[in-house]
Formats: sequence, structure tokens, C-alpha cells
Amino acid sequence: MDIVKIAIAGARGRMGREAVQLVKRTRQYELVAVIDHKNGGGYLRDFDGFSGDDQIPVYTDIVICFQEQKPDVLIDLTTPEVGMYHTKTALEHGVRPVVGTTGFTKENLRELEVLCHEKGLGCIIAPNFALGAVLMMKFSQMAGKYFNDVEIIELHHDQKLDAPSGTAVKTAEMIAGVREKKEQGHPNEKETVTGARGANFDGMHIHSVRLPGLIAHQQVMFGSEGQTLTVRHDSYNRASFMSGVKLAVDTVLKIDTLVYGLENIME
Ligand code: NAP
Repeated sequence: MDIVKIAIAGARGRMGREAVQLVKRTRQYELVAVIDHKNGGGYLRDFDGFSGDDQIPVYTDIVICFQEQKPDVLIDLTTPEVGMYHTKTALEHGVRPVVGTTGFTKENLRELEVLCHEKGLGCIIAPNFALGAVLMMKFSQMAGKYFNDVEIIELHHDQKLDAPSGTAVKTAEMIAGVREKKEQGHPNEKETVTGARGANFDGMHIHSVRLPGLIAHQQVMFGSEGQTLTVRHDSYNRASFMSGVKLAVDTVLKIDTLVYGLENIME
């Protein structure tokens, strides 16, 4: 069995900490380094909340990290500002990126697609690593063929900055691809309080709930004469994202293109 050498950027973050645990407990993976913009030169065990006797080196410079440690895969769980730089730099140094960081633009994706082609390397960017959430989107797409009337309700913690969520927009896009277009609700409906009917995406309405205590949840409701169908997914903690990270790491080693969205590698 070949050992997969992995570097993690953003290891001190909420997602990064889970990814460190995933890599450590997976027999065929080896954590060779972490990239951290604030602390370089030490070891991962020096960070708050990390312990153990392992000496995983911490780099501030991602290029030096790649040159010295030669990882096979970079897992990036950082911020939109730096995610693109990390992903590009990885491909330029022969390292396959698995990226959970959100905020990639269409132009970023086009540039990375070309770079993957030039280098003959795989790269997976997944705005949602929860396998259940990806299945919820796929099931909703299946239902969208048969039900024209649909409302999406996404629920997140109240520190989330964007609304609607990327997953809600992606779900709406997937349903729009198969659904016969329809303006939802009564043609003469009027909002007596602005925003009551939520956002309108291709005639479908999206409602964003923000409350402390929530993590990431989404409910897609379909209705037709005499019946409703609800597809719902709940992430209760960030460990829920790690089976998707593992699937992406295992897959990125076998492909030589850019994949955006786990739904494209789940059959
Ligand atoms: P977080 O707790 O804020 O963690 C981000 C980490 O990245 C922090 O430790 C931060 O350090 C570090 N960082 C920032 N700039 C860096 C750089 N230049 N080099 C190395 N590390 C850097 O956020 P999170 O909740 O873990 O989320 C991380 C990313 O994943 C976000 O983009 C989020 O939207 C995304 N996300 C994706 C999924 C998915 O399923 N794909 C799920 C949840 C979240 P400092 O705090 O010291 O700046």
C-alpha cells in the first residue's frame, strides 16, 4: 500500500483540526507538514489544542514546504483570500489540491482547469464536503424532474456571512437544469413585509434562517396535488465533512482534471 503524503493549510482552524485528525487516523495517509501564516519554524504539537509526540513541521512559506516535504496532496481549509494562491502554487509544484475553502470565482476555476491540463494533475474543490449534503442535492435534482413547485430552506449558524448559502444556490442550479421553469406561488402574490417570500432563483424561492446553535442544514420541499416531498440534510458538527475530504483525497490521486463539487465524483 502506497502511503499518501499530505500537507494541510489552515490546520489551526475548525475544519483544519478535523482534517488533522482524519489524516492521523487513516493508515495509508501521512501528515508531513502544515502551512500556517502566523507560526512557522515549530511543530504542530506547539499549537493550542494539539499534543502528542509527533513532530509535524509548520511552514509559513508554502513553496518551501512543497520543496522540502514533497507532499502528494495539499488539503486547503483556509480563507477565500489565500485559497486560490495555495491551490495554484500546489499545482505548479506537482502537488494535487483538495480544497474546501469557499469563494472561488468562475475565472479562478477556469484558470485552474487550464493549469490542471498543463500539469496533468487532478484538483478537487468542494464547497460542501458532507456526503449527505451532496446526496440531498442529487435527490433534489431527481425530484425536480417530476415536481415543478419547490422551495429551499437553508439554516445556518448566525456567524455565517453570506446568504443564501453556496449549497442552496448550487441545489437551485441543479434543480433548474431539469425542472420545467415556473414562477413559484400565486401570480398576484404581494409581500406585505419585504423579503417574506425569500430570494427568487429562476422562479424557485430560497429562505435563509440564521440562528445560534445551528451548524449547516437544508430542507428542499416539493409540492404537487395532494402530496409534498421533503429532502433534508443536517450537519451537526464539522466531523460530518471528513468522509468527503477522504473521498476527495483518494480520488484526486487518480484524476488529471479539475473537479468542482463532490457530486461529480459520487455515483
Ligand atoms: P476557520 O476556523 O476560520 O479556519 C481558517 C484557518 O485558516 C484559520 O486557522 C486561519 O488562521 C487560517 N489561515 C488564514 N490565512 C491563512 C494562510 N495564509 N495560510 C495558512 N492558514 C491561514 O474556518 P473554518 O470554519 O475552518 O473554514 C475554513 C474554510 O473552509 C472556509 O473557507 C470555510 O468557508 C470553508 N468550509 C468549507 C466546508 C466544506 O464542506 N467545503 C465546510 C465548512 C467550512 P487565523 O485564524 O490565525 O487567521
